[in-house]
Amino acid sequence: MPRAGRGKSGDAAVRQAALRALPSVDALLGIVAADPALRDIPRRRVTDTVREVLAGERRRLLETGAAAPPGVEGLGRRVVGQLTQSGVFSLAPVINATGVVLHTNLGRALLSPLAQERLLRAAAGYTNLEMDLARKERGSRYAHLEGLLRRLTGAPASLVVNNNAAAVLLALESLARGKEVIVSRGELIEIGGEFRIPDIMRRSGAILREVGTTNRTHLKDYANAIGPETALILKVHTSNYRVVGFTAAVSSRELVDLGHARGVPVMEDLGSGCFVDLTRYGFPHEPTVPEVVAAGVDLVSFSGDKLLGGPQAGIVVGRGDLIDTLAHNPLNRALRIDKFTVAALEATLYAYEAGNAIETIPALRMLTEPLGGIRRRARRLLRLLSPDAQRALGAAVIEASSQVGGGALPTVELPTAALAVGAPARPPQELDACLRAGRPPVLGRLLDDRLLLDCRTVLPSDVATLAQLITALA
Ligand SMILES: *Cc1c(COP(=O)(O)O)cnc(C)c1O
Repeated sequence: MPRAGRGKSGDAAVRQAALRALPSVDALLGIVAADPALRDIPRRRVTDTVREVLAGERRRLLETGAAAPPGVEGLGRRVVGQLTQSGVFSLAPVINATGVVLHTNLGRALLSPLAQERLLRAAAGYTNLEMDLARKERGSRYAHLEGLLRRLTGAPASLVVNNNAAAVLLALESLARGKEVIVSRGELIEIGGEFRIPDIMRRSGAILREVGTTNRTHLKDYANAIGPETALILKVHTSNYRVVGFTAAVSSRELVDLGHARGVPVMEDLGSGCFVDLTRYGFPHEPTVPEVVAAGVDLVSFSGDKLLGGPQAGIVVGRGDLIDTLAHNPLNRALRIDKFTVAALEATLYAYEAGNAIETIPALRMLTEPLGGIRRRARRLLRLLSPDAQRALGAAVIEASSQVGGGALPTVELPTAALAVGAPARPPQELDACLRAGRPPVLGRLLDDRLLLDCRTVLPSDVATLAQLITALA
């Protein structure tokens, strides 16, 4: 006996009607195509999104048995909303208000104006990348950097690859495949993003010979581990953490003396290689690249986009015969840098040679900017907010501390100034989410019950935009 009301077949009929009521792809396209917000979005992407939205709606109707689909206008708004939220381009500018100068997830170092200019030139026209013009024969892309690196580091030879992880991999594969590499247990570090020194070593085919303990490693530990299978002694700069308390590590120079006495080359992975001594600016002493080279280390590797402040790259400097072995390893062909890296790195290195690195390289300028300048930027940001917004968001300039980032100088806290926002009616988590969804997105730092917008990393040219975005929150 049929039940009263809608039975199974009744539901199916309602669903069919609802499905039939969905607009066609063409009808929905017709609604959104003229929307000025989608002007720069390729037609194919709009069509795909229309199909996805309709398919999603069809699934929802079938699953929930809802009677009525949203009207074509509502679906149109959904399509436009999805496409404008993701923007025309996926890789897009972000305002960094975290205070972390070398923020790996935000692209690490910003390039100097000169590096930007050289990069653009290399992009727009042909270059002598691998052409020896005097001889009219094939040249080397590395030649553009060799002289600079020799003069700046004091090392006779150099090679530049894609990043420092690649540099370590290439060095180990070239010099120690199937042989032993001696490393202190205190230096078997994870850099982040899945990069662990022991994993890289295994991938290179080198056999890890761990010595010492987590907190203490002595010269005799290295000495006792050297045998006929030893190909390399590796020292890794523990750049992203510190072991404090009862610790002992062996200096580069002691390792060099040991290695050279026993005929074993010594490599140091410096991580964030720096060319200037930042102690003048109140930073703790970090070994600079020239210092490590001067200690006699045979190969020194470091990143291009950490404290150096250039493009992503892995730079290896050192003994000519060892660099030659690395350069001629077929693996190097897979890790080689492109013309953009050469252009931006040459310009970055040039600033060190010209003596204006601190002023022109953004990473160094931000790290060494006096508190007074940052405070002025924070106050300007506050003044640019509407009085209503200041009140509603509880905005105030406060002093805080920011970090270097990029796994460099982990214990350093830099005094900074930030705009703090957040009020009982406007929780900081909510403000944070709104700012991250903005155009451009803003990334701040939550601290206690406030959202801090650390002005160390806010570019002067972004202050007005940031003020507008914050005002719009109120
Ligand atoms: C950051 C770091 C690396 C990895 O460098 P990338 O340029 O990011 O590949 C390797 N070793 C150390 C010690 C580091 O700090």
